[in-house]
Amino acid sequence: MGKQVVTTMSTKCTCLGIIEVTRRQFQEAGTTCVECPACGARRTLKSPKDLPHFPSHPRRLTPPPKRERHWVEQEEIWKVSEGRGWRQSVLT
Ligand SMILES: [Zn+2]
Repeated sequence: MGKQVVTTMSTKCTCLGIIEVTRRQFQEAGTTCVECPACGARRTLKSPKDLPHFPSHPRRLTPPPKRERHWVEQEEIWKVSEGRGWRQSVLT
Protein backbone atom coordinates (compact mmCIF):
# COMPACT_ATOMS: atom_id res chain seq x y z
CA MET A 1 0.00 0.00 0.00
CA GLY A 2 1.11 3.58 -0.48
CA LYS A 3 2.08 5.83 2.33
CA GLN A 4 -0.59 7.77 4.11
CA VAL A 5 -1.07 11.42 3.42
CA VAL A 6 -1.70 13.40 6.57
CA THR A 7 -4.21 16.14 5.96
CA THR A 8 -5.44 16.75 9.48
CA MET A 9 -3.70 20.04 10.05
CA SER A 10 -3.95 21.29 6.50
CA THR A 11 -6.32 24.13 5.79
CA LYS A 12 -5.41 24.22 2.14
CA CYS A 13 -8.02 23.10 -0.29
CA THR A 14 -6.69 20.56 -2.73
CA CYS A 15 -9.10 21.48 -5.48
CA LEU A 16 -6.96 23.36 -7.99
CA GLY A 17 -8.64 22.20 -11.14
CA ILE A 18 -9.18 24.01 -14.37
CA ILE A 19 -12.10 26.39 -14.54
CA GLU A 20 -13.66 25.67 -17.89
CA VAL A 21 -14.67 29.22 -18.63
CA THR A 22 -13.14 31.32 -21.38
CA ARG A 23 -12.10 34.93 -21.06
CA ARG A 24 -14.99 35.90 -23.33
CA GLN A 25 -17.45 34.10 -21.06
CA PHE A 26 -16.06 35.92 -18.04
CA GLN A 27 -16.53 39.23 -19.83
CA GLU A 28 -20.06 38.41 -20.93
CA ALA A 29 -21.03 37.32 -17.43
CA GLY A 30 -19.67 40.51 -15.95
CA THR A 31 -18.02 38.69 -13.07
CA THR A 32 -14.75 36.87 -12.54
CA CYS A 33 -15.70 35.56 -9.13
CA VAL A 34 -15.43 31.77 -9.06
CA GLU A 35 -16.54 29.31 -6.42
CA CYS A 36 -14.50 26.24 -5.57
CA PRO A 37 -16.57 23.13 -6.34
CA ALA A 38 -14.97 21.30 -3.42
CA CYS A 39 -15.25 23.71 -0.50
CA GLY A 40 -17.23 26.72 -1.69
CA ALA A 41 -14.45 29.26 -1.30
CA ARG A 42 -14.66 32.15 -3.72
CA ARG A 43 -11.90 33.88 -5.57
CA THR A 44 -12.08 36.84 -7.90
CA LEU A 45 -9.72 36.54 -10.84
CA LYS A 46 -8.05 39.86 -11.56
CA SER A 47 -7.13 39.20 -15.16
CA PRO A 48 -8.91 36.07 -16.32
CA LYS A 49 -7.54 34.06 -19.18
CA ASP A 50 -9.01 31.15 -21.05
CA LEU A 51 -9.57 28.11 -18.86
CA PRO A 52 -7.64 29.31 -15.79
CA HIS A 53 -6.64 27.10 -12.90
CA PHE A 54 -8.41 27.73 -9.63
CA PRO A 55 -5.93 29.64 -7.45
CA SER A 56 -4.53 28.13 -4.28
CA HIS A 57 -6.78 28.94 -1.37
CA PRO A 58 -7.61 27.92 2.20
CA ARG A 59 -10.57 25.69 2.70
CA ARG A 60 -13.75 27.60 3.40
CA LEU A 61 -15.52 26.60 6.58
CA THR A 62 -18.50 28.93 6.62
CA PRO A 63 -20.91 30.10 3.95
CA PRO A 64 -20.15 33.38 2.20
CA PRO A 65 -21.88 36.30 3.92
CA LYS A 66 -23.26 38.12 0.92
CA ARG A 67 -24.88 37.45 -2.35
CA GLU A 68 -22.96 38.14 -5.48
CA ARG A 69 -22.79 36.84 -8.98
CA HIS A 70 -20.19 34.13 -9.28
CA TRP A 71 -19.27 31.11 -11.33
CA VAL A 72 -20.08 27.69 -9.95
CA GLU A 73 -19.57 24.23 -11.35
CA GLN A 74 -22.76 22.24 -11.65
CA GLU A 75 -22.66 18.78 -13.15
CA GLU A 76 -19.26 19.53 -14.67
CA ILE A 77 -20.51 22.66 -16.36
CA TRP A 78 -19.52 26.11 -15.15
CA LYS A 79 -22.48 28.46 -14.82
CA VAL A 80 -23.16 31.87 -13.36
CA SER A 81 -25.11 31.83 -10.12
CA GLU A 82 -26.84 34.87 -8.72
CA GLY A 83 -25.45 34.03 -5.34
CA ARG A 84 -28.18 32.24 -3.47
CA GLY A 85 -25.30 30.02 -3.10
CA TRP A 86 -23.46 27.51 -1.25
CA ARG A 87 -24.87 24.24 -2.41
CA GLN A 88 -28.43 25.47 -2.71
CA SER A 89 -28.48 27.10 -6.10
CA VAL A 90 -29.03 23.76 -7.81
CA LEU A 91 -32.28 23.13 -6.01
CA THR A 92 -34.09 26.37 -6.72
ZN1 LIG B 1 -11.67 24.76 -2.32
